[in-house]
Amino acid sequence: MTPMQLVFATNNLNKLKEIQALMPKYIKLLSLSDILCIEDIPETQATIEGNAIQKAEYVKANYGCDCFADDTGLEVEALNGEPGVYSARYAGPQRNAEDNMNKLLSELADNKNRTAQFKTVIALHINGEMYTFTGICKGEITMLKHGEKGFGYDPIFKADGYEKTFAEISLEEKNKIGHRGKAVRTLIDYLNSL
Ligand code: IMP
Repeated sequence: MTPMQLVFATNNLNKLKEIQALMPKYIKLLSLSDILCIEDIPETQATIEGNAIQKAEYVKANYGCDCFADDTGLEVEALNGEPGVYSARYAGPQRNAEDNMNKLLSELADNKNRTAQFKTVIALHINGEMYTFTGICKGEITMLKHGEKGFGYDPIFKADGYEKTFAEISLEEKNKIGHRGKAVRTLIDYLNSL
């Protein structure tokens, strides 16, 4: 295979390292700082898919590189799919995880329907085409926060079949059953098939 470079539209070096380890050997991932992209990429679409596509298109249009971008949201059934695409800034522009969880718990209050899912969409712009890969993890919102691991809404999300929240299980376990892990594996299957 001819060596190939692919931009992952992120500045999160942990995410980059994790995904690089799963990539076919001939693909070298570059971060946004590697291509000297330091501006905030617009994420102004009304859907998770839309934002992932917008970010991948932005990198292609402005930097001319093949690339992929991800976007994730937590969709709560009793809240008509909210916070969804607004998950990062649910409680305001400060993008604070504690504030977001508190708002979600108070919106749900003692509602019996706690059904929720995390959804990750990865948009890949390669060889002049756009492809999307989706990973979903179904579960429920707990009544209280549990656990210290992870980030974002992890302390209040329990995957189906689990007694513990995402903040109480190992990263390895979370990647196995989680939304992002599933989306990344479908992306990698596709890249391996090229
Ligand atoms: P991003 O698209 O990966 O930046 O995710 C958007 C927002 O969704 C984050 O700011 C978090 O609030 C939430 N989020 C994304 N992935 C996870 C996760 O794996 N666990 C908990 N919260 C997450």
